[in-house]
Amino acid sequence: MGVLDGTTALITGGSRGIGRAICLRLAKYGAAIILHYHRNREAAEETAALIDGPVTLVQADLASAAEIEALFQSLAGRRLDLLINNAGVWKGSPVGSSPVELIDELLATNLKGPFLVTQAALPLLNDGARIVNISSVAGRTGVAGGRSLYGATKAAMDSLTRNWALELAPRRILVNAVAPGYITTDMTAAYLADPANLERALIRHPLGRLGTPEDIADVVAFLCSPDARFITGQSLNVSGGFVI
Ligand code: NAP
Repeated sequence: MGVLDGTTALITGGSRGIGRAICLRLAKYGAAIILHYHRNREAAEETAALIDGPVTLVQADLASAAEIEALFQSLAGRRLDLLINNAGVWKGSPVGSSPVELIDELLATNLKGPFLVTQAALPLLNDGARIVNISSVAGRTGVAGGRSLYGATKAAMDSLTRNWALELAPRRILVNAVAPGYITTDMTAAYLADPANLERALIRHPLGRLGTPEDIADVVAFLCSPDARFITGQSLNVSGGFVI
């Protein structure tokens, strides 16, 4: 018996990194998994193979409204209990030299996408469902490296979290966010391969290590569990003390 037995979870960006760990954790607790991916079908299949339970793979570029619409058409008739808005991109956007295409891509993938996904998911979500948004400490504090737009999209995710919690409370849908510090995934691999960047990142983590995808997945699973039944509108800082 798992605490999520009988539930169905849609995880965006479930193919790799934090999303993969979330899929595995929620499945371990009994949820049926709808695993969304973008380009990396092979990674999505690898994740699915690690899951002992029902898994459905769905594909979409979440920067595209048309692809989000098609994704939800393919889910017609399904019911959802858990929605994890995890997919995102981490790109530099130095103010003064960022092309409009890059600005559009960051806003579309990290902000417009989760908004449209959540909007499309609402008719499928059961009353009492849970939504967990993956934001970032970059939405709460300045981080060197010219990634202001990324930080802005993550601050926006925290704002969406607070406001959706109010909007969806009449349906008893709980909406929370998890804000990681540096987590070792494909997203940060190239950056952290530079010893100077790694040292800078470690200094920001008083607990003395960077985070793992499982550090985040465990907290997401908690927020999806009955134990978190009276928590809504919160963004939990899960960063080993990056921001205190
Ligand atoms: P990751 O390893 O780079 O994986 C990114 C995931 O997002 C993949 O599943 C990818 O799908 C999907 N994705 C990327 N662009 C997409 C698009 N246009 N449409 C649909 N899906 C797309 O990233 P991660 O480190 O696990 O990060 C997951 C979330 O945590 C992100 O929101 C990120 O901002 C946040 N976060 C990460 C860190 C960190 O240090 N890693 C820190 C704070 C917050 P494919 O596999 O198909 O490409």
